[in-house]
Amino acid sequence: MKIPRLNFFLQFILLGTAVFILLGIFLSTLIAPALNTFILDQRELNSVVFANRVAAEILKPEDFTQPVSDKEGTTRFERFTLNLQVPGMFRIKVYRPDGTIVYSDEKRLIGVKFPLNEELKRALELKTTAEITEFKADKSRHEYELSFIRGLEVYTPITFGNSVEVVGIVETYSRVGFIEQQIDELKTLFTQRVVFSLLVMFSVLSLIVWRASRTVNKQRQELLKYASGLAAMVDTRTRELKDTTQREVEKAKELLKLKDQFVFVAAHELRTPLNAIKWGLSVLESNNPEMVVKDKDLFTILRKSNERLLFLVKDILDVARIEGGTLKLKIESISAAEAISDALIEVESEVDQLQIIIDNKVPGNIPSVRGDVLRLKEIFVNLLTNAAKYSKVGGIVVVSAEVKDENIVFHVIDTGIGISTDQKKHIFEKFWRSPEAQYTEGTGLGLFIVKQLVQFMSGEIWFESEKGKGTTFSFSLKRADSAAKDEEIHET
Ligand code: ADP
Repeated sequence: MKIPRLNFFLQFILLGTAVFILLGIFLSTLIAPALNTFILDQRELNSVVFANRVAAEILKPEDFTQPVSDKEGTTRFERFTLNLQVPGMFRIKVYRPDGTIVYSDEKRLIGVKFPLNEELKRALELKTTAEITEFKADKSRHEYELSFIRGLEVYTPITFGNSVEVVGIVETYSRVGFIEQQIDELKTLFTQRVVFSLLVMFSVLSLIVWRASRTVNKQRQELLKYASGLAAMVDTRTRELKDTTQREVEKAKELLKLKDQFVFVAAHELRTPLNAIKWGLSVLESNNPEMVVKDKDLFTILRKSNERLLFLVKDILDVARIEGGTLKLKIESISAAEAISDALIEVESEVDQLQIIIDNKVPGNIPSVRGDVLRLKEIFVNLLTNAAKYSKVGGIVVVSAEVKDENIVFHVIDTGIGISTDQKKHIFEKFWRSPEAQYTEGTGLGLFIVKQLVQFMSGEIWFESEKGKGTTFSFSLKRADSAAKDEEIHET
């Protein structure tokens, strides 16, 4: 069941009512005993004052010395009893200090000596006792007393004049109905007052809370109105911002595409004249051997510059194809040993110039792998050239391979400048070159392309390096006998 949510004012009324009811119950349970004690105290005080005043008027100290036996004494004590004016009194006993009853309305008790009980002892110390007693049937109780079940019992010490000597003790029993009636009257009066005060307090508080909750409600409505306006405004602005951002992103994408297209077209167009220059140079060289000898340095510079430009153009075109998703690979079963031999031939002159020795430890009968043979050769050319370029003169580069489960793992190991820890994360980034590499020819595109090519052939590439000690680049390719046999063209 769903409990409806109450507004603040109703919550207050409910809670307030509960609190006031609990308070009422709490107070009334406290009041009854307090009133009892109060009234009994009152009785004690009244009886001591009144009994002593009446005794002084009607009795003499000698009346307490002997139990009353004569008519005159009896009459005096009867007058004394009458004047006490104890409401509902049904028994009176007047004791001597030793506990002997000198007078009682119950004649058979006159002259009987009772042991001193607590109340009589207190009275001898000038203390009054008023208490409600349940009557138990014992030999001192008369049937008449027992018929009352309970009674208000008051022990009052009697003294005469200025003396503090207790000459006698008056014990009276009266009906509890009177005192209970008095308590009830007081209780009703008190309860009426408490309820009335609580009601007044509750009404005033309710009024204050009602006014406060009205103000709070009004402010809440305004706040809600403002919040919903704000939310709508935020929605509109967000939508506008999203639209604008989307438009900007589209524009940026379009521009990026245009740039890629431009780079691709430019590189593509550059390749033809560069190839023409290359062809022209070789024609010039073969037709004019004496000129080549004469201008040997010039021809070397021309050839090298042409090679560098062709290399750059090739890398740019590869990057553009990778990013444009148009790179095509012919994946088939290929001999890695062959790809390595071809790569070694291609890097030979550069490696010789750098005076680096390459130690090929890959056995000719290494199992075939799945890949694109030309691209695999390109991977080795790149890794071998880097190993040579970033080694010291006279360094040795080792190429090795090992069979690992379904893969062949290739390693290109050098003892060159190495790569520092903070540079390692950049190695495969496009155009990234270490500060140490700035005096070495390069584009910063080689490793980026190598990583993509390895991944396109379903392989993985990684490296280990220590600055100043050397670097090992490793990559894995699937063995042809374990991978799918179908010829396939990988398109990204
Ligand atoms: P680059 O054309 O500059 O050689 P690469 O992408 O092949 O471009 O390499 C990126 C950078 O990685 C290099 O400039 C060089 O700082 C570092 N690097 C690559 N290979 C090695 C290596 N074998 N030893 C030390 N540093 C290397």
